[in-house]
Amino acid sequence: MIESHSTIEKIRTAFDEVSQRRTRPRRLIEERLIGLAASGTDFTIDDIWQGMREEEPRIGRATVYRSVEWLVERGLLDRIEFADGTHHYRVCGHEHHHHLTCTQCHQVVEIDICLPEDQLNAIGSQNNFAIEGHSLSLFGRCASCRTE
Ligand SMILES: [Zn+2]
Ligand SMILES: [Zn+2]
Ligand SMILES: [Zn+2]
Repeated sequence: MIESHSTIEKIRTAFDEVSQRRTRPRRLIEERLIGLAASGTDFTIDDIWQGMREEEPRIGRATVYRSVEWLVERGLLDRIEFADGTHHYRVCGHEHHHHLTCTQCHQVVEIDICLPEDQLNAIGSQNNFAIEGHSLSLFGRCASCRTE
């Protein structure tokens, strides 16, 4: 919880740095993103956009999308890929981790297990690559989906 609190501060700071001239739509996106981030739940672009349109009908989906992806690029939001090709966003912990997601209900679990460093290095040397990073997603069915 302390971790996600500090991430929310970072999101606020990141927005402050770029938006000297803050328009009302931008402020609304920021507030909604910060609210969703603080709640710890994962969300989609449409979750933010649909809710905002009642308050600010002029806002475009593309504007919301750019703001969200901008935070992903800065490592402040995680983009979580699902087996069906859809994705959600959320604030995760700062430690290196991967995601395990349910193919039925889209529940997300953070996992702190990774490939061992020497295996990553072995993959690099076997293929004559200098490995710079990796991504790893695990898919399955959670306990409650398996009992249905
Ligand atoms: Zn994550
Ligand atoms: Zn499930
Ligand atoms: Zn890893």
